[in-house]
Amino acid sequence: MPSSCRIAIVGGGLAGLAAANALQTFGIKAEVFETAPALGEIGAAVNVSPQAVKALQAIGVGDKIAAVGNTSPGIYTRNMQTGEFLELNDRQKAAARYGAPYYTFHRADLLDALASGIDSSSVHLGHRLTGIEERANANVLTFANGTQVEAEYVIAADGVRSVIRQALYGTDNPTYTGQMVWRALLNGSTVPEDVLEPTGHIQWVGPGCHLLAYYIRGKKLVNIVTQEDTDKWVEEGWSTRGDCDEMRASFPNPEPRLAKLLSVVTECSKWGLFTRPLTQNWGRGRIQLVGDAAHAMLPNAGQGACQAFEDSYILARWLEASRDPAEAFANFRRIRVPRVHGVQRLSIANARFKHMRDSAAQKASIAAGKSSVHGSSDWVWGYDLIRDWDKEPSVPATYAA
Ligand SMILES: Cc1cc2nc3c(=O)[nH]c(=O)nc-3n(C[C@H](O)[C@H](O)[C@H](O)COP(=O)(O)OP(=O)(O)OC[C@H]3O[C@@H](n4cnc5c(N)ncnc54)[C@H](O)[C@@H]3O)c2cc1C
Repeated sequence: MPSSCRIAIVGGGLAGLAAANALQTFGIKAEVFETAPALGEIGAAVNVSPQAVKALQAIGVGDKIAAVGNTSPGIYTRNMQTGEFLELNDRQKAAARYGAPYYTFHRADLLDALASGIDSSSVHLGHRLTGIEERANANVLTFANGTQVEAEYVIAADGVRSVIRQALYGTDNPTYTGQMVWRALLNGSTVPEDVLEPTGHIQWVGPGCHLLAYYIRGKKLVNIVTQEDTDKWVEEGWSTRGDCDEMRASFPNPEPRLAKLLSVVTECSKWGLFTRPLTQNWGRGRIQLVGDAAHAMLPNAGQGACQAFEDSYILARWLEASRDPAEAFANFRRIRVPRVHGVQRLSIANARFKHMRDSAAQKASIAAGKSSVHGSSDWVWGYDLIRDWDKEPSVPATYAA
C-alpha cells in the first residue's frame, strides 16, 4: 500500500529545495524525495543575480544567504592573450539599481542555506525515482528502494536528466552542445593577488573560449570555470576528472596573469554541456517541471539556478492563489515559459559573442556600445517578480520568439 501526500517534490537540488522553501513560506505542505543519501552539492560556485536574490529573500532565506555569499565590485573582462581590458560588468551599480545584491556562493553553502530553511522530516533521502504513473486523481511515484508514494501533485525538480520529463515526453533527451567546461577550485592563498585584480572577479575571453576566476567564501577559495567550443565528446558531471596539462593547453598563449593562475591548478574536472532546444514541455495536469528539468540552459547568462529560484517563488504564489493546483501549474507555465525562453536565447547569444574568433571586431563592438560579453541583462536582473508574479513579463524583441 503506497503512502500518500498532497504535493511531492522530486529532487533536492537547488530547484527542489527552493521550491520546498517557497511552498512552506505560503503555508503549503510538500514532501521532498531525493536520490542521494545526504543533501549536498558538489562542484564549485554559482552566481545569483539581484532578481533571484529577491526571490530567495521572499522565500525566507535572505539572512542565511547573506551570511555565506560574496559580493564583488564586478566582473572585469580582459583579452585572454593580451590582457587588455575589454569591459566591466559593474555589480555594485547593478545592486543599487535593482535593490538587491549580486552574490557568488560555494554551491554547498547555498544548498545548506536552503536546506536549513525547511523541516528535515519532510525530506526523504535515498529515494531515487524510477517511475511515475499518472492516474485520474493522483500520481503514483515508484522509487528504487521499493517504496511507492501516491502524490496528488508532483513538482519535478530532478535536473537535466529528469526521469519525470522522460516519462512525460519520451526521448526528449538533452543533447551535447559541442561545448565543454573545465572547473577547478583553488586555495585562495595559492593564487597571487595581482592575478585577480582589480575586482577579484576576472573573465578572460579568447577565440572560441573564455575563462572566469573569482573568490568565494571570502578569499578562502578561488573558483575557476571555463567554456570552450570543441569537437571532442565530453561526459556531463562533476566527477569526470580532468588532466591539468590538457586544461592549460586549452588556453594557448595566455597573458601573464592568466598564465600564473593556470600554473597553480593541481586538480580539475571537465564537464560536457548538455541542453535541449527551447520547449513548451514543462509538465501537464498534476505534474509541473521546474529548474533544469524544465529548462536546462547554457551557463553564459549565469541564470540556470536563478531561473529555478524565480520558478519557486512564482509557483508558490500561484499555488497559494488558486484552489486547483493543476490550474496554478497552467498559469505558472503561461507566465514563465516566455521569460525563460528569452533567458535561454540570451545565454546562447552570450556564448556566441564571448567566443568570437575575431578579437578586434569583438573589441570594436564593445567599444561602440553595440555588444557586451554579458549581453543585455537589464530585463533579466530588473524583473520585479514580487510585484509582477502574475503578469506576463516583457522580453526584448531580440530574445523573444
Ligand atoms: C558550468 C556551469 C556553471 C553554472 N553557473 C551558474 C551560475 O553562475 N548561476 C546560475 O544561476 N546557474 C548556473 N548554472 C546552472 C545551474 O547549475 C543549474 O541550473 C542548477 O544547478 C539546476 O538546479 P536543479 O535543482 O534544477 O538541478 P540539479 O542541480 O541537477 O538537481 C537535481 C536534483 O535531483 C536529484 N535527482 C535526480 N534524479 C533523481 C531521481 N530520479 N529521483 C530523485 N532525485 C533525483 C539529484 O540528485 C539532484 O539533487 C551553471 C551550470 C553549469 C554547468
